[in-house]
Amino acid sequence: MNEPITRRAVLRRWLERCGVRPSRRLGQNFLVDEGWAERIVAAAEPGPDDLVLEVGPGLGALTERLVRRAGRVVAVEVDRRLADALRQRLGPLANLELVVADVLRVDLARLVAAPEGGAAGGEPGAGRPRDRVKLVSNLPYAITSPFLVRWLTTPLRWERAVLTLQEEVVERLLAPPGTAAYGALTVFVAYHARVERLGTVPAGAFWPRPAVDSAVVRLWPHPRPPVTVADPAALFALVRAAFGRRRKRLANALAAHPAVGRQEAEAACRAAGIDPGARPEDVDLEGFARLANHLFPSPA
Ligand code: SAM
Repeated sequence: MNEPITRRAVLRRWLERCGVRPSRRLGQNFLVDEGWAERIVAAAEPGPDDLVLEVGPGLGALTERLVRRAGRVVAVEVDRRLADALRQRLGPLANLELVVADVLRVDLARLVAAPEGGAAGGEPGAGRPRDRVKLVSNLPYAITSPFLVRWLTTPLRWERAVLTLQEEVVERLLAPPGTAAYGALTVFVAYHARVERLGTVPAGAFWPRPAVDSAVVRLWPHPRPPVTVADPAALFALVRAAFGRRRKRLANALAAHPAVGRQEAEAACRAAGIDPGARPEDVDLEGFARLANHLFPSPA
């Protein structure tokens, strides 16, 4: 293939050629570290039976490696100029489908379904029978939380996700209860997946250089949720209400939920074996699950 896009001078020439001045809003910080590009792709272990979804391929630092190893790559890029340039760089490839779209607005399951007339007949969410779905992305910072929520709640069955996120977000994902970084995102992700931290990617590995370092994580979906709740949506609404008032006593914070009264909140804490005077950040996933099951014993 052509010159490595992880070389600063090559990247800048391509950006100039396609008229892109990197946008902070779109998180356009491009990877210019060959070693990290390789490590991120290797962590996904893409193989011929894999369908890899890549969010934000940019000019292809990861994409060009993924297409060499994965059976099929579906890459979603919001910036048409970058998508056109990437097509030009890589040339026609039978196993790459480049979609110009905002990943927050596409139906993820449909996106990775077999192409029209494919082996699975284009059934949404079905994929080709042999496809194992993996996600790989140097995720644009601005969409980290909404994208994680979408990804983790998609009906799609996926095998693993390798993501570059802001270091501070990774700290939140891995924070134990009782710490400042522990919050609604921690609890939400813990319910869905196990988080494995693979290392720090220094800010200088990107161009333009972002203000902060990043870290790469690998997410492994739980085969079944680690806690049983009657209504997962109710659990997360409760968690959001609690952390919306994280400095308050738990019972007061829970009462911020529109369907929960003060006395009910106190009673739920006691029934769940949790001190109503504790802080929301002291409650672990199991604790929130007990609270949710007491307050919302059946699905809405
Ligand atoms: N993968 C490339 C790399 O590692 O050099 C680019 C990574 S850059 C951090 C993020 C990319 O995501 C940019 O190409 C940006 O245009 C794209 N992007 C930003 N918001 C997006 C969205 N909502 N949907 C799809 N792509 C998006």
